[in-house]
Amino acid sequence: MDLSFTPEEEAFREEVRAFFRDKLPARLSTLVREGKRLRKSDMEEWHAILNERGWLANHWPEEWGGPGWSVIQRFIFDNESALAHAPRVVPFGVNMLGPVLIKYGSEEQKKQWLPRILDGSDWWCQGYSEPGAGSDLAGLKTTAVRNGDVYVVNGQKTWTTLGQHADMIFCLVRTDATAKKQEGISFLLIDMKSPGIEVRPITLIDGEQEVNEVFFTDVEVPVANLVGEENLGWTYAKYLLTYERTNIAGVGFSIASFERLKEVAQMQKKGRRSLADDPLFAARMARVEIDLANMQTTNLRVLAAVAGGGAPGAESSMLKIKGTEIRQEITSLTRRAYGSYAAPYIPEALEAGWNGEDVGPEDAAMAAPSYFNNRKLSIFGGSNEIQKNIISKAILGL
Ligand SMILES: Cc1cc2nc3c(=O)[nH]c(=O)nc-3n(C[C@H](O)[C@H](O)[C@H](O)COP(=O)(O)OP(=O)(O)OC[C@H]3O[C@@H](n4cnc5c(N)ncnc54)[C@H](O)[C@@H]3O)c2cc1C
Repeated sequence: MDLSFTPEEEAFREEVRAFFRDKLPARLSTLVREGKRLRKSDMEEWHAILNERGWLANHWPEEWGGPGWSVIQRFIFDNESALAHAPRVVPFGVNMLGPVLIKYGSEEQKKQWLPRILDGSDWWCQGYSEPGAGSDLAGLKTTAVRNGDVYVVNGQKTWTTLGQHADMIFCLVRTDATAKKQEGISFLLIDMKSPGIEVRPITLIDGEQEVNEVFFTDVEVPVANLVGEENLGWTYAKYLLTYERTNIAGVGFSIASFERLKEVAQMQKKGRRSLADDPLFAARMARVEIDLANMQTTNLRVLAAVAGGGAPGAESSMLKIKGTEIRQEITSLTRRAYGSYAAPYIPEALEAGWNGEDVGPEDAAMAAPSYFNNRKLSIFGGSNEIQKNIISKAILGL
Protein backbone atom coordinates (compact mmCIF):
# COMPACT_ATOMS: atom_id res chain seq x y z
CA MET A 1 0.00 0.00 0.00
CA ASP A 2 1.43 3.39 -1.00
CA LEU A 3 0.85 5.83 1.83
CA SER A 4 2.91 8.68 0.41
CA PHE A 5 1.19 11.86 -0.70
CA THR A 6 0.90 12.95 -4.32
CA PRO A 7 2.72 16.12 -5.50
CA GLU A 8 -0.65 17.95 -5.39
CA GLU A 9 -1.20 16.85 -1.82
CA GLU A 10 2.33 17.90 -0.88
CA ALA A 11 1.62 21.31 -2.46
CA PHE A 12 -1.56 21.51 -0.42
CA ARG A 13 0.41 20.71 2.72
CA GLU A 14 2.73 23.62 1.94
CA GLU A 15 -0.28 25.89 1.45
CA VAL A 16 -1.65 24.84 4.83
CA ARG A 17 1.73 25.32 6.50
CA ALA A 18 2.00 28.80 5.02
CA PHE A 19 -1.46 29.61 6.29
CA PHE A 20 -0.55 28.60 9.84
CA ARG A 21 2.74 30.51 9.58
CA ASP A 22 1.00 33.70 8.41
CA LYS A 23 -2.36 33.60 10.13
CA LEU A 24 -2.07 31.70 13.41
CA PRO A 25 -1.39 34.36 16.06
CA ALA A 26 1.79 33.53 17.99
CA ARG A 27 -0.06 34.31 21.20
CA LEU A 28 -2.56 31.51 20.52
CA SER A 29 -0.01 28.89 19.44
CA THR A 30 2.09 29.66 22.53
CA LEU A 31 -0.95 29.16 24.76
CA VAL A 32 -1.68 25.82 23.11
CA ARG A 33 1.95 24.64 23.10
CA GLU A 34 2.35 25.45 26.78
CA GLY A 35 -0.97 23.83 27.69
CA LYS A 36 -2.49 27.07 29.00
CA ARG A 37 -6.21 27.60 29.32
CA LEU A 38 -7.96 29.13 26.34
CA ARG A 39 -10.67 31.71 26.94
CA LYS A 40 -13.86 31.85 24.92
CA SER A 41 -12.47 34.90 23.10
CA ASP A 42 -9.32 32.92 22.11
CA MET A 43 -11.41 30.16 20.56
CA GLU A 44 -13.66 32.67 18.81
CA GLU A 45 -10.63 34.51 17.43
CA TRP A 46 -9.28 31.32 15.84
CA HIS A 47 -12.69 30.29 14.49
CA ALA A 48 -12.99 33.71 12.81
CA ILE A 49 -9.56 33.37 11.18
CA LEU A 50 -10.41 29.90 9.84
CA ASN A 51 -13.81 31.05 8.68
CA GLU A 52 -12.37 34.03 6.81
CA ARG A 53 -10.27 31.56 4.80
CA GLY A 54 -13.27 29.24 4.34
CA TRP A 55 -11.54 26.45 6.30
CA LEU A 56 -13.57 26.33 9.53
CA ALA A 57 -16.09 23.62 8.60
CA ASN A 58 -13.78 21.75 6.31
CA HIS A 59 -15.95 18.61 6.12
CA TRP A 60 -19.17 20.44 5.18
CA PRO A 61 -20.36 20.43 1.56
CA GLU A 62 -19.35 23.48 -0.47
CA GLU A 63 -23.01 24.46 -0.76
CA TRP A 64 -22.99 25.22 2.96
CA GLY A 65 -19.59 26.84 3.21
CA GLY A 66 -17.16 23.92 3.18
CA PRO A 67 -13.95 24.16 1.07
CA GLY A 68 -14.66 20.98 -0.95
CA TRP A 69 -11.58 19.16 0.33
CA SER A 70 -10.82 15.50 -0.17
CA VAL A 71 -10.40 13.28 2.89
CA ILE A 72 -6.64 13.41 2.40
CA GLN A 73 -6.71 17.20 2.44
CA ARG A 74 -8.71 17.18 5.67
CA PHE A 75 -6.29 14.70 7.14
CA ILE A 76 -3.31 16.86 6.16
CA PHE A 77 -5.00 19.96 7.55
CA ASP A 78 -5.75 18.31 10.91
CA ASN A 79 -2.19 17.07 11.28
CA GLU A 80 -0.64 20.38 10.33
CA SER A 81 -3.03 22.18 12.63
CA ALA A 82 -1.86 20.10 15.58
CA LEU A 83 1.81 20.42 14.64
CA ALA A 84 1.41 24.22 14.43
CA HIS A 85 -0.18 24.17 17.92
CA ALA A 86 -3.35 25.76 16.62
CA PRO A 87 -6.35 25.74 18.98
CA ARG A 88 -8.74 22.87 18.29
CA VAL A 89 -12.01 23.82 16.65
CA VAL A 90 -14.78 23.77 19.27
CA PRO A 91 -16.69 20.73 18.05
CA PHE A 92 -20.29 21.28 19.11
CA GLY A 93 -21.52 23.49 16.26
CA VAL A 94 -19.05 22.71 13.48
CA ASN A 95 -18.40 18.99 13.96
CA MET A 96 -21.54 17.74 15.72
CA LEU A 97 -24.64 19.77 14.96
CA GLY A 98 -23.56 20.89 11.48
CA PRO A 99 -23.51 17.38 9.91
CA VAL A 100 -26.87 16.53 11.57
CA LEU A 101 -28.57 19.65 10.20
CA ILE A 102 -27.03 19.12 6.76
CA LYS A 103 -28.39 15.55 6.64
CA TYR A 104 -31.64 15.79 8.58
CA GLY A 105 -32.52 19.49 9.02
CA SER A 106 -35.12 21.36 6.96
CA GLU A 107 -33.98 23.94 4.38
CA GLU A 108 -35.12 26.71 6.76
CA GLN A 109 -33.11 25.25 9.61
CA LYS A 110 -30.00 24.92 7.46
CA LYS A 111 -30.33 28.52 6.28
CA GLN A 112 -31.00 29.75 9.78
CA TRP A 113 -28.36 27.89 11.78
CA LEU A 114 -25.43 26.86 9.57
CA PRO A 115 -24.22 30.39 8.68
CA ARG A 116 -24.46 31.33 12.35
CA ILE A 117 -22.21 28.40 13.30
CA LEU A 118 -19.65 29.59 10.77
CA ASP A 119 -19.65 33.28 11.70
CA GLY A 120 -19.65 32.57 15.42
CA SER A 121 -23.07 34.11 16.11
CA ASP A 122 -24.08 30.98 18.03
CA TRP A 123 -21.94 29.01 20.44
CA TRP A 124 -23.49 25.54 20.78
CA CYS A 125 -23.32 22.95 23.52
CA GLN A 126 -24.45 19.33 23.66
CA GLY A 127 -27.39 18.27 25.85
CA TYR A 128 -27.32 14.47 25.68
CA SER A 129 -26.26 13.08 29.09
CA GLU A 130 -28.39 13.19 32.22
CA PRO A 131 -27.88 11.90 35.72
CA GLY A 132 -28.73 8.22 35.16
CA ALA A 133 -28.53 8.46 31.37
CA GLY A 134 -24.92 8.35 30.16
CA SER A 135 -23.99 4.94 28.77
CA ASP A 136 -27.69 4.13 28.76
CA LEU A 137 -28.42 7.34 26.87
CA ALA A 138 -31.79 6.15 25.60
CA GLY A 139 -32.94 6.09 29.22
CA LEU A 140 -33.03 9.90 29.27
CA LYS A 141 -35.91 11.48 31.16
CA THR A 142 -36.01 15.16 30.16
CA THR A 143 -39.47 15.63 28.68
CA ALA A 144 -40.82 17.88 25.93
CA VAL A 145 -44.60 18.15 25.81
CA ARG A 146 -46.18 19.82 22.81
CA ASN A 147 -48.48 22.73 23.59
CA GLY A 148 -49.62 24.50 20.41
CA ASP A 149 -46.60 26.09 18.71
CA VAL A 150 -44.16 25.22 21.48
CA TYR A 151 -42.67 22.28 23.32
CA VAL A 152 -42.52 22.67 27.10
CA VAL A 153 -39.26 21.16 28.34
CA ASN A 154 -38.61 19.91 31.89
CA GLY A 155 -35.62 17.98 33.22
CA GLN A 156 -31.86 18.07 33.65
CA LYS A 157 -28.77 17.60 31.50
CA THR A 158 -25.31 17.08 32.93
CA TRP A 159 -21.62 17.16 31.95
CA THR A 160 -22.50 19.90 29.45
CA THR A 161 -19.10 20.96 28.17
CA LEU A 162 -18.58 24.72 27.85
CA GLY A 163 -22.31 25.21 28.42
CA GLN A 164 -21.46 28.30 30.47
CA HIS A 165 -20.54 30.04 27.20
CA ALA A 166 -23.35 28.69 25.06
CA ASP A 167 -26.04 30.61 23.21
CA MET A 168 -27.77 27.41 22.11
CA ILE A 169 -27.99 23.77 23.18
CA PHE A 170 -29.00 20.80 21.04
CA CYS A 171 -30.93 18.44 23.27
CA LEU A 172 -32.31 14.95 23.26
CA VAL A 173 -35.74 15.02 24.90
CA ARG A 174 -38.47 12.47 25.50
CA THR A 175 -41.58 13.25 23.47
CA ASP A 176 -43.33 9.90 23.91
CA ALA A 177 -43.14 8.27 27.32
CA THR A 178 -45.17 5.25 26.21
CA ALA A 179 -43.01 4.13 23.26
CA LYS A 180 -39.96 1.83 23.45
CA LYS A 181 -37.25 4.02 24.94
CA GLN A 182 -35.28 4.60 21.70
CA GLU A 183 -38.47 5.44 19.85
CA GLY A 184 -39.81 8.24 22.03
CA ILE A 185 -36.86 10.64 21.69
CA SER A 186 -36.68 13.91 19.72
CA PHE A 187 -33.86 16.31 18.81
CA LEU A 188 -34.54 19.91 19.86
CA LEU A 189 -32.59 23.15 19.43
CA ILE A 190 -32.99 25.30 22.54
CA ASP A 191 -32.02 28.92 23.17
CA MET A 192 -29.94 29.04 26.36
CA LYS A 193 -31.43 32.46 27.18
CA SER A 194 -34.93 30.98 27.44
CA PRO A 195 -36.67 31.62 30.78
CA GLY A 196 -36.47 28.49 32.97
CA ILE A 197 -32.88 27.46 32.12
CA GLU A 198 -30.28 27.40 34.87
CA VAL A 199 -26.59 26.50 34.36
CA ARG A 200 -24.51 25.30 37.32
CA PRO A 201 -20.75 24.62 36.96
CA ILE A 202 -19.09 21.29 37.87
CA THR A 203 -15.41 21.42 38.85
CA LEU A 204 -13.28 18.68 37.30
CA ILE A 205 -10.38 16.74 38.84
CA ASP A 206 -7.85 19.25 37.42
CA GLY A 207 -9.71 22.18 38.98
CA GLU A 208 -11.09 23.31 35.63
CA GLN A 209 -14.73 24.37 35.20
CA GLU A 210 -15.31 23.07 31.72
CA VAL A 211 -18.54 21.15 32.34
CA ASN A 212 -21.93 22.07 33.79
CA GLU A 213 -25.33 20.90 34.88
CA VAL A 214 -28.21 22.45 32.94
CA PHE A 215 -31.69 22.53 34.47
CA PHE A 216 -34.92 23.07 32.49
CA THR A 217 -38.12 24.21 34.19
CA ASP A 218 -41.11 24.78 31.90
CA VAL A 219 -38.82 26.00 29.11
CA GLU A 220 -40.78 26.91 25.96
CA VAL A 221 -39.16 25.91 22.67
CA PRO A 222 -40.70 26.75 19.27
CA VAL A 223 -41.87 23.64 17.40
CA ALA A 224 -39.84 25.00 14.45
CA ASN A 225 -36.73 24.02 16.46
CA LEU A 226 -37.48 20.31 16.19
CA VAL A 227 -34.89 18.67 13.90
CA GLY A 228 -36.32 16.03 11.56
CA GLU A 229 -39.36 14.17 12.81
CA GLU A 230 -40.77 13.90 16.30
CA ASN A 231 -39.71 10.64 18.03
CA LEU A 232 -36.99 9.90 15.46
CA GLY A 233 -34.29 11.78 17.40
CA TRP A 234 -32.40 8.60 18.29
CA THR A 235 -31.39 8.14 14.64
CA TYR A 236 -30.01 11.68 14.47
CA ALA A 237 -28.35 11.31 17.88
CA LYS A 238 -26.44 8.21 16.78
CA TYR A 239 -25.38 9.85 13.52
CA LEU A 240 -23.95 12.75 15.50
CA LEU A 241 -22.12 10.44 17.91
CA THR A 242 -20.14 8.75 15.14
CA TYR A 243 -18.74 12.17 14.19
CA GLU A 244 -18.03 12.97 17.83
CA ARG A 245 -16.09 9.73 18.32
CA THR A 246 -13.97 10.13 15.22
CA ASN A 247 -12.99 13.60 16.38
CA ILE A 248 -12.11 12.52 19.92
CA ALA A 249 -9.49 10.16 18.45
CA GLY A 250 -7.35 13.30 17.90
CA VAL A 251 -4.56 11.73 15.83
CA GLY A 252 -2.97 15.07 14.95
CA PHE A 253 -3.02 16.10 18.57
CA SER A 254 -1.26 12.87 19.56
CA ILE A 255 1.41 13.36 16.88
CA ALA A 256 2.19 16.84 18.22
CA SER A 257 2.24 15.81 21.87
CA PHE A 258 4.31 12.73 21.09
CA GLU A 259 6.93 14.96 19.43
CA ARG A 260 7.08 16.98 22.62
CA LEU A 261 7.32 13.81 24.72
CA LYS A 262 10.35 12.71 22.71
CA GLU A 263 12.06 16.06 23.39
CA VAL A 264 11.33 15.86 27.11
CA ALA A 265 12.45 12.23 27.37
CA GLN A 266 15.72 13.11 25.67
CA MET A 267 16.52 15.92 28.11
CA GLN A 268 19.45 15.02 30.31
CA LYS A 269 20.09 15.94 33.87
CA LYS A 270 23.74 16.63 34.56
CA GLY A 271 25.83 13.48 34.37
CA ARG A 272 22.84 11.18 33.90
CA ARG A 273 21.40 9.24 31.04
CA SER A 274 18.21 10.55 29.50
CA LEU A 275 14.94 8.77 30.11
CA ALA A 276 14.80 7.85 26.42
CA ASP A 277 17.79 5.56 27.08
CA ASP A 278 15.86 3.61 29.67
CA PRO A 279 14.78 0.40 27.89
CA LEU A 280 11.43 0.14 29.68
CA PHE A 281 10.50 3.75 29.02
CA ALA A 282 11.78 3.54 25.45
CA ALA A 283 9.66 0.41 24.87
CA ARG A 284 6.52 2.26 26.01
CA MET A 285 7.37 5.13 23.69
CA ALA A 286 7.96 2.76 20.79
CA ARG A 287 4.58 1.12 21.43
CA VAL A 288 2.89 4.53 21.23
CA GLU A 289 4.74 5.42 18.03
CA ILE A 290 3.69 2.17 16.34
CA ASP A 291 0.07 2.52 17.51
CA LEU A 292 0.02 6.09 16.29
CA ALA A 293 1.21 5.07 12.81
CA ASN A 294 -1.54 2.44 12.70
CA MET A 295 -4.09 4.98 13.88
CA GLN A 296 -3.20 7.31 11.02
CA THR A 297 -3.97 4.58 8.51
CA THR A 298 -7.22 3.60 10.21
CA ASN A 299 -8.23 7.24 10.42
CA LEU A 300 -7.67 7.61 6.68
CA ARG A 301 -9.74 4.49 6.05
CA VAL A 302 -12.67 5.89 8.05
CA LEU A 303 -12.40 9.26 6.34
CA ALA A 304 -12.38 7.51 2.96
CA ALA A 305 -15.60 5.70 3.91
CA VAL A 306 -17.18 9.05 4.77
CA ALA A 307 -16.02 10.48 1.45
CA GLY A 308 -17.73 7.56 -0.26
CA GLY A 309 -21.03 8.83 1.10
CA GLY A 310 -21.30 6.87 4.34
CA ALA A 311 -21.19 8.08 7.91
CA PRO A 312 -18.34 6.70 9.99
CA GLY A 313 -19.80 3.51 11.44
CA ALA A 314 -18.55 1.17 14.13
CA GLU A 315 -15.03 1.97 12.91
CA SER A 316 -15.40 5.29 14.70
CA SER A 317 -15.66 3.23 17.91
CA MET A 318 -12.32 1.60 17.08
CA LEU A 319 -10.80 5.01 16.48
CA LYS A 320 -12.25 6.34 19.70
CA ILE A 321 -10.85 3.52 21.84
CA LYS A 322 -7.40 3.39 20.33
CA GLY A 323 -7.09 7.15 19.85
CA THR A 324 -7.96 7.92 23.45
CA GLU A 325 -5.73 5.14 24.82
CA ILE A 326 -2.83 6.64 22.90
CA ARG A 327 -3.61 10.17 24.08
CA GLN A 328 -3.86 9.04 27.68
CA GLU A 329 -0.63 7.05 27.45
CA ILE A 330 1.19 10.10 26.05
CA THR A 331 0.00 12.29 28.94
CA SER A 332 1.04 9.55 31.37
CA LEU A 333 4.53 9.22 29.84
CA THR A 334 4.94 13.00 29.66
CA ARG A 335 4.09 13.35 33.32
CA ARG A 336 6.64 10.64 34.17
CA ALA A 337 9.23 12.19 31.88
CA TYR A 338 9.02 15.51 33.72
CA GLY A 339 9.49 13.63 36.99
CA SER A 340 9.60 15.98 39.94
CA TYR A 341 8.94 19.03 37.73
CA ALA A 342 5.39 17.74 37.19
CA ALA A 343 4.76 17.34 40.91
CA PRO A 344 3.91 20.87 42.08
CA TYR A 345 0.34 21.32 40.95
CA ILE A 346 -0.10 25.05 40.40
CA PRO A 347 -3.43 25.71 38.66
CA GLU A 348 -2.53 29.39 38.18
CA ALA A 349 0.40 28.28 36.01
CA LEU A 350 -2.17 27.33 33.41
CA GLU A 351 -3.34 30.92 33.05
CA ALA A 352 -1.89 33.03 30.23
CA GLY A 353 0.59 35.56 31.55
CA TRP A 354 1.37 33.70 34.78
CA ASN A 355 4.62 35.08 36.16
CA GLY A 356 5.15 32.80 39.12
CA GLU A 357 8.23 30.86 40.02
CA ASP A 358 9.66 28.74 37.24
CA VAL A 359 8.86 25.10 37.91
CA GLY A 360 11.00 23.59 35.18
CA PRO A 361 10.71 23.55 31.40
CA GLU A 362 7.98 25.83 30.07
CA ASP A 363 5.22 23.22 29.82
CA ALA A 364 6.14 21.13 32.89
CA ALA A 365 3.41 22.78 34.94
CA MET A 366 0.75 21.44 32.60
CA ALA A 367 1.94 17.83 32.70
CA ALA A 368 -0.06 16.80 35.79
CA PRO A 369 -3.28 18.76 35.03
CA SER A 370 -3.17 17.49 31.46
CA TYR A 371 -2.77 13.92 32.72
CA PHE A 372 -5.76 14.34 35.04
CA ASN A 373 -7.90 16.22 32.53
CA ASN A 374 -7.38 13.63 29.84
CA ARG A 375 -8.85 10.83 31.96
CA LYS A 376 -12.12 12.17 30.53
CA LEU A 377 -11.22 10.96 27.05
CA SER A 378 -12.12 7.33 27.72
CA ILE A 379 -15.43 8.40 29.33
CA PHE A 380 -17.07 10.99 27.10
CA GLY A 381 -18.48 10.46 23.62
CA GLY A 382 -19.62 7.08 24.95
CA SER A 383 -17.18 5.32 27.31
CA ASN A 384 -14.56 2.99 25.84
CA GLU A 385 -16.31 -0.02 27.42
CA ILE A 386 -19.47 0.92 25.54
CA GLN A 387 -17.44 1.26 22.32
CA LYS A 388 -16.22 -2.31 22.82
CA ASN A 389 -19.83 -3.45 23.12
CA ILE A 390 -20.65 -1.64 19.86
CA ILE A 391 -17.72 -3.29 18.08
CA SER A 392 -18.64 -6.73 19.34
CA LYS A 393 -22.20 -6.32 18.00
CA ALA A 394 -21.56 -4.48 14.75
CA ILE A 395 -18.21 -5.84 13.59
CA LEU A 396 -17.77 -9.22 15.30
CA GLY A 397 -21.48 -10.05 15.18
CA LEU A 398 -21.56 -11.19 18.80
C1 LIG B 1 -15.35 15.83 30.88
C2 LIG B 1 -16.65 15.33 30.33
C3 LIG B 1 -17.32 16.09 29.40
C4 LIG B 1 -18.56 15.66 28.92
N1 LIG B 1 -19.25 16.47 28.04
C5 LIG B 1 -20.49 16.14 27.67
C6 LIG B 1 -21.31 17.03 26.91
O1 LIG B 1 -20.86 18.12 26.51
N2 LIG B 1 -22.56 16.69 26.63
C7 LIG B 1 -23.10 15.49 27.02
O2 LIG B 1 -24.26 15.23 26.71
N3 LIG B 1 -22.37 14.61 27.76
C8 LIG B 1 -21.09 14.91 28.10
N4 LIG B 1 -20.34 14.04 28.88
C9 LIG B 1 -21.00 12.84 29.39
C10 LIG B 1 -20.44 11.54 28.85
O3 LIG B 1 -20.92 11.29 27.55
C11 LIG B 1 -20.86 10.43 29.85
O4 LIG B 1 -20.11 10.66 31.02
C12 LIG B 1 -20.58 9.06 29.32
O5 LIG B 1 -21.48 8.72 28.31
C13 LIG B 1 -20.65 7.98 30.44
O6 LIG B 1 -21.86 8.08 31.11
P1 LIG B 1 -21.92 8.19 32.72
O7 LIG B 1 -20.97 9.25 33.15
O8 LIG B 1 -23.35 8.35 33.09
O9 LIG B 1 -21.35 6.81 33.26
P2 LIG B 1 -22.15 5.44 33.41
O10 LIG B 1 -22.97 5.22 32.19
O11 LIG B 1 -22.82 5.42 34.72
O12 LIG B 1 -20.97 4.38 33.39
C14 LIG B 1 -20.14 4.16 34.54
C15 LIG B 1 -19.12 3.10 34.18
O13 LIG B 1 -19.79 1.85 33.86
C16 LIG B 1 -19.40 1.41 32.57
N5 LIG B 1 -20.56 0.80 31.88
C17 LIG B 1 -21.82 1.30 31.85
N6 LIG B 1 -22.62 0.50 31.11
C18 LIG B 1 -21.86 -0.52 30.66
C19 LIG B 1 -22.10 -1.65 29.84
N7 LIG B 1 -23.30 -1.89 29.32
N8 LIG B 1 -21.06 -2.49 29.56
C20 LIG B 1 -19.82 -2.25 30.06
N9 LIG B 1 -19.53 -1.19 30.86
C21 LIG B 1 -20.52 -0.32 31.15
C22 LIG B 1 -18.92 2.65 31.83
O14 LIG B 1 -18.00 2.33 30.83
C23 LIG B 1 -18.28 3.45 32.96
O15 LIG B 1 -16.96 3.01 33.17
C24 LIG B 1 -19.10 14.43 29.35
C25 LIG B 1 -18.38 13.66 30.28
C26 LIG B 1 -17.17 14.08 30.76
C27 LIG B 1 -16.46 13.24 31.78
